[in-house]
Amino acid sequence: MTINPNAKLPEDESGTIVFSTDPLVIKYHYEIDYIHSYAQDSEFFRALGKHKLMGSKCKKCGYVYATPRAHCMMCGSETEWYELPLKGKVHTFTTCYFSGEEFLNETPFNLIMVEFEGVNSLFMSRLIGADTEDIYIGMPVKAKFRRNQKMNVTDVYFVPDVDK
Ligand SMILES: [Zn+2]
Repeated sequence: MTINPNAKLPEDESGTIVFSTDPLVIKYHYEIDYIHSYAQDSEFFRALGKHKLMGSKCKKCGYVYATPRAHCMMCGSETEWYELPLKGKVHTFTTCYFSGEEFLNETPFNLIMVEFEGVNSLFMSRLIGADTEDIYIGMPVKAKFRRNQKMNVTDVYFVPDVDK
């Protein structure tokens, strides 16, 4: 048994970076390994490694989505996987001068909404290989895939399609 009223936690030489005192704002390092399930979207991410883009098609009304979607937002029925074309057009675009932490050091970058023939919804992706002033609505683009797949939506990106 120990009863020691003089017990102290160990001290070290590390400090805290203070950004402001009122309110008190400090720098606090935060890191976590997160085990994330792609669940019903798994096939979409596996397909990226095979250089395929998988959307979904409603089994009942035939609405085609450019993204994974288990159920149709038009009629509520189940969908099935639908292989998207790898070429499309810029429906609209934006230049990001600020972003979430992961892409912050890549700013500015261009995001596009891709329109595929025969597909009723759009697919958001990065467009590289074109300066912002050279991007236009209706611009032909084609999908490219990272050689070293990261099982992430950034495994696919778009470049100008000059074969047109
Ligand atoms: Zn439907």
